[in-house]
Amino acid sequence: LRNLIVVLGDQLSDQSPALDGFHPKQDAIWMAEVRDESRHVWSHKARSTYFLSAMRHFRDQQKSLGRKVLYTQLDDVSNAGSLSAELEKSIKSRTPGAIRLTEPGDFRVKKSLEETARGHRIPLQLVPDNHFISSNQEFEEHCRDRKQLRLEFFYRELRKKTGILMEGSEPLGGAWNFDSENRKSFGKKGPGLLPVPVAFEPDANTRQVIQTVEKWLSDNPGSTKNFDWPVTTEQARAALKDFIEHRLPHFGDYQDAMWTSQTWLYHSRISAALNLKLLNPMEVIRAAEKAYHLGRVPLPAAEGFIRQILGWREYVRGIYWKFMPDYLERNALNAQQPLPAFFWTANTDMHCLRETIQQTLDYGYAHHIQRLMITGLFSLLLGVQPKAIHEWYLAVYVDAVEWVEVPNVIGMSQFADGGVMASKPYAASGAYINRMSNYCQGCRYKPTESTGEEACPFTTLYWDFLDRNLPLLKGNMRMAMQLKNLQRIPGSELQALRKKARSIQESLHVN
Ligand code: FAD
Ligand code: SF4
Repeated sequence: LRNLIVVLGDQLSDQSPALDGFHPKQDAIWMAEVRDESRHVWSHKARSTYFLSAMRHFRDQQKSLGRKVLYTQLDDVSNAGSLSAELEKSIKSRTPGAIRLTEPGDFRVKKSLEETARGHRIPLQLVPDNHFISSNQEFEEHCRDRKQLRLEFFYRELRKKTGILMEGSEPLGGAWNFDSENRKSFGKKGPGLLPVPVAFEPDANTRQVIQTVEKWLSDNPGSTKNFDWPVTTEQARAALKDFIEHRLPHFGDYQDAMWTSQTWLYHSRISAALNLKLLNPMEVIRAAEKAYHLGRVPLPAAEGFIRQILGWREYVRGIYWKFMPDYLERNALNAQQPLPAFFWTANTDMHCLRETIQQTLDYGYAHHIQRLMITGLFSLLLGVQPKAIHEWYLAVYVDAVEWVEVPNVIGMSQFADGGVMASKPYAASGAYINRMSNYCQGCRYKPTESTGEEACPFTTLYWDFLDRNLPLLKGNMRMAMQLKNLQRIPGSELQALRKKARSIQESLHVN
């Protein structure tokens, strides 16, 4: 064999340069489903199903092109259980001249495959991933001579580089962002009739994967009963089209809003398809830009959506590769609480958390604000160990891959990086949740109360968070207003708040 072309579960693009010049007689594609990848941290059954189903569809598509694919299934009796052990077996039996691999998105996987190749003295050709708009090198250059990194500046550079939503060197519409027009709540009336996203019934391939996952990963969390995700490029394009036509026009307006029993709202549901490389981000961005130029979506909606992909998605990848592996060890606020057990069961009387976690277990999905301002916020305020909450996020979402999950969790939501990602902690009380959703209406707690029987745990823990982290936060100008309000609380009330906060923490340990 000349080249063994390793294709990982999140590299399922038929446009990958690793496949350029593929020789049908001398080269082979190598893919493996291994238990380690669903077990090194737990993996939601829908997440494992997504990866395995998309991999098997990719395998079949490549085979239909006449390409040889060496493929190990999860339930193969001889499956060695880890990527490196499986690869070693193939190296011994096939003696390839070289291994070719698209740059992995995961630090741990990259290291382990590099070691395997080195151990067998086989040249490893790393091919750049063409599913990103910027390179790690560009990000490094962006960081040079900057004391503080901020998404906004990187995003503007990428707007200029790509020409997306640009008029010469100026942003279309005269502004780089339209946040002041976006981010509404549904108010008292609620969202009304919402467009139902296109669903993809599991085909025979996916049904077989679901059976395997239910058998081999039976102890893993989550359910496969609602699985209707796009698992091929063709389906992912249909999902994108459906979003652009029916939900993008209101994406900006309601991107931060939440509503009981409404899982999808105006979100795109394409993160996993992007992360598995079924879709190319530039294709998605151009589709949104085109919809704006055709007059089908307002500029704030198109810009708000494009910013998520051209901005945030590229930015977090840059952060991941620049700061790993020690980024994962960061704990700037010295948070030491364990993860509450209800994160795995949704068994809590806090309605916002119950809704968000139950939906997560049912679908492997929660939208950005549910992740940041419900589960992430609670964990930040409670003071959960960053690594414990990181492992939860990596486990429970269908789109969870380390390079995007880690900066979002360790940096944006937990402020464990001390301000690399975000200029201040996303700390808020129950009042924010009350403003952006109707969760509080169905809750036994009151978002305005911070002590007493009906005190909302978010509100109690919010003040306690500011109080206990005061020494670390007081130098941060962006926290000045919040800290000023803390100082207005009379001493006796603060004592009662602290006591209440300790009792919440203790009650969660008992769970
Ligand atoms: P939409 O709301 O429709 O947004 C469009 C696209 O923009 C998404 O598909 C995604 O590709 C991109 N995007 C939006 N926000 C971000 C962001 N903050 N960082 C990177 N890309 C973004 N996203 C993942 O893909 N995998 C993760 O493991 C992940 N973990 C997260 C953990 C936390 C604590 C937080 C706060 C966010 C996380 N995100 C993650 C980002 C975001 O929540 C999801 O991408 C989004 O909810 C996916 O749903 P959607 O496709 O409907 O997105
Ligand atoms: Fe969540 Fe507090 Fe509102 Fe209940 S009252 S839904 S716990 S924010």
